[in-house]
Amino acid sequence: MDCNIFQFCKCLKLLGRIMILIVLAFIGLSYYAVVWESYGPSIFEGSMQSRLGSFTAVFIFTFLIGMTLWSYFACVMTDPGKVPLGWHPFSSDEEADAQFSLASYGGQPAAVNGQRVRFCRKCKAWKPERAHHDSGTGRCVLRMDHYCIWVLNCVGLLNYKMFLLFLFWTFWACALASGLLINSFIRFFQSDADLNSARPAIVFIAFVVDAAFCLSLFGFLIMHARLVVNNCTTIEMFEKARGPPWPYTLGARRNFESVFGSRHWAWLLPMHSAAEKASMLDEALHEPYLQGPEMADLRGADPLSCEV
Ligand SMILES: [Zn+2]
Repeated sequence: MDCNIFQFCKCLKLLGRIMILIVLAFIGLSYYAVVWESYGPSIFEGSMQSRLGSFTAVFIFTFLIGMTLWSYFACVMTDPGKVPLGWHPFSSDEEADAQFSLASYGGQPAAVNGQRVRFCRKCKAWKPERAHHDSGTGRCVLRMDHYCIWVLNCVGLLNYKMFLLFLFWTFWACALASGLLINSFIRFFQSDADLNSARPAIVFIAFVVDAAFCLSLFGFLIMHARLVVNNCTTIEMFEKARGPPWPYTLGARRNFESVFGSRHWAWLLPMHSAAEKASMLDEALHEPYLQGPEMADLRGADPLSCEV
């Protein structure tokens, strides 16, 4: 039986824009439990040391939630990077037109500089290396990683950084919330707990949700960290497992900068400068096609089956 996590994601896609409300509800629940119910009131009562501790907790948690929301909506609203209309890998428009009919009817177009070119039968257009057709948006996306139901967007060349920072800031927000709420969570099981109040239940649920997200995001972050330093996408990860050494890697630092940019101060901010975007698009459109007979299997395995 084919057990594919993407099949499960396809079911969640049916929820559509409700997913945004679900994400906001999770964030709201954590913020309510940490700030409104637990540490906010403590700012105005108790010793100075206690007040300072509560203020610091509220301040840092609010900062993390702010960064999480910024990264989330940046990822939702940023175009992942489409193949420009009329783009082709040939040296002239005439040659592209001549090859177009052949490719449209399933034929193999002529190679360019000895390298096979790629054609999307759904878009009826040429596509660069590492671009894949996204059935969610109905078009080819540059350096496509996957379609994410949580952000209601395809994650690709121009919003992969935003997606990773959404994971990063959410992880730290959940980790801090779990740490701040763990005493209340333990107190829930003690005999003197006031179970008639709604407060312990809300804090209990918030702790369980935050701890669960924290653990699952940790694994997800480790997986994506390995992909970034190897210059690999989630779709390509499945191809790479059955292929020869990965051809796109430029070294760990340059691989990292190809996603996060070269401006160190902006690495943790979910945005790209106009110059970065232009450079990323230029590189993605001129990515050399896989070469050599040993890559034939990978080229043949154009992952249309990975349209997620
Ligand atoms: Zn396409």
